[in-house]
Amino acid sequence: MNIRKKYDYTEQKRKFRQEHRVELAQYDRDRHTRLKREVLTHYGNGKCACVRCGFEDIRALSIDHVNGGGAQHRRELGSKSILVWIRNNNYPDGYQTLCLNCQFIKIVENGERNKGKIPTLTNKSDLQPSLIGLNE
Ligand SMILES: [Zn+2]
Repeated sequence: MNIRKKYDYTEQKRKFRQEHRVELAQYDRDRHTRLKREVLTHYGNGKCACVRCGFEDIRALSIDHVNGGGAQHRRELGSKSILVWIRNNNYPDGYQTLCLNCQFIKIVENGERNKGKIPTLTNKSDLQPSLIGLNE
């Protein structure tokens, strides 16, 4: 007799997951947060903070591809987490911790937004009052 048939581990697991749904979800969130803090601290030069402005709220911190190519990398990863990928690849060079504001400012500064579609304002002096209708 096949012992695997006698004890249906799949059914046991399903029951266990069902009964401990809330705790398991919390466990996954905690594990994700620990990994995120670990990776952000590594690329934040030992601090879980933005390397440009020092912002520390982990909810608005992200991993930035220093030389661009983040969109392509995300496409390659598909549904896989970049945090897991970074850890599994021994923290390769070419990444930094940025807050989402600095991430967005970097995108604008590098002209990576709306490529060829809408002229991009690269700094504050480009923001002329007439462009936003303040002189009329
Ligand atoms: Zn920042």
